[in-house]
Amino acid sequence: MKVRVGAQQRDSASGVAFHESEAWAQTDFGGRMVAFASPMQAEGVCVYDGEGFTVTGEARTTLRSVCGRCGKSFEEPFSFSFEERFERAANEDEGIYAYQGDVLDLTAMIQDNVFLHLPIRSVCSEDCKGLCPVCGCDRNITQCGCVTEESDERPNPLSALAALLNEDKEV
Ligand SMILES: [Zn+2]
Ligand SMILES: [Zn+2]
Repeated sequence: MKVRVGAQQRDSASGVAFHESEAWAQTDFGGRMVAFASPMQAEGVCVYDGEGFTVTGEARTTLRSVCGRCGKSFEEPFSFSFEERFERAANEDEGIYAYQGDVLDLTAMIQDNVFLHLPIRSVCSEDCKGLCPVCGCDRNITQCGCVTEESDERPNPLSALAALLNEDKEV
């Protein structure tokens, strides 16, 4: 994902607009393998201020995710916006990316932002019923009739006792 920012482009008042699209291979993000179902698309603008570029924009793609409830693979739309700094000398402490010559290579910057924005837990649908904790069937497909904790409403003698003790304290 490279943007040409030679003197001719960078001195325009509106900055250098870009719209890049690139197919990404499966990538390891901090031990988590992430696969992409559609190309990574990034668009935005690079604005030069005499010392470097401020790059702002938005990236979007589709992740191949696994549902955290039912375990099914599904395609999950994924997008985020970014605002980053590029200078000739990188300064990792200040989160500044380096560039050389007349080209800004956005790939590492976009990758860093993907890592920051990855969903912690993906769900195939907000009303996915997940797997039955008793028999393991997919409850979106099968009505297994297992009794699970939520529906088990028999009174627990110990909690009744605890309630009594609490009443004593309140008096
Ligand atoms: Zn699901
Ligand atoms: Zn079940």
